[in-house]
Amino acid sequence: MTQPRPCGCKGCRTCLICETQYGADKYKIQLEFDKTKSYVYCPFCNKAWPGWDADIYKQHPNHNGTPIEYPGVYIQLDFITEEEENVLMKNIDEVPWDISQSGRRKQNYGPKTNFKKMKINAGSFDGFPAFSKFLQDRRSLLVFYGEPRYHWEHCVLREDISSRRVCIAYREFTPPYMQNGCHEEAGNLIRQAKTFWDHKVKYQIQT
Ligand SMILES: [Zn+2]
Ligand SMILES: [Zn+2]
Repeated sequence: MTQPRPCGCKGCRTCLICETQYGADKYKIQLEFDKTKSYVYCPFCNKAWPGWDADIYKQHPNHNGTPIEYPGVYIQLDFITEEEENVLMKNIDEVPWDISQSGRRKQNYGPKTNFKKMKINAGSFDGFPAFSKFLQDRRSLLVFYGEPRYHWEHCVLREDISSRRVCIAYREFTPPYMQNGCHEEAGNLIRQAKTFWDHKVKYQIQT
């Protein structure tokens, strides 16, 4: 049996902390990829080019090989400025992080969702921190739609992470939870989703 570890990892999930400090190295899932069959997406020309190194897109427009179409993924580079990033990260780090069973730290603001049972608990949902409002006002950095969103598998390779990685994910409600959907919680959810609260007041942060 794989024991829960102080980093938060459970089961077959591992991170660098429990692999090196809590003997979880033996649980690590070894993914084997055929690097000769991989493609790298270029957000400038919206095509995927043969190769493995994630930096390949920086060669644009001087790519090598024959590209493939890559519908269903959209990336907008630099959609927030460096200054906006710094302010956002400072605010995010003022809010307490929760550990999760994937070994990643999390901050969850949406309604509690049980993906396995496909159920949603709207009760505790009270909106989003005010410092994130401008993100919802501006567009997305990476959008999955169509095939990649619903049928493809995806993962972030550890070798591609060179420094702290923070992912801010927004999920949309499915039609039953939208206006006139069959779930009566919908009205409440949508009202709450338009609420933005001051994280310093909510978490009693002294500055
Ligand atoms: Zn871990
Ligand atoms: Zn390109």
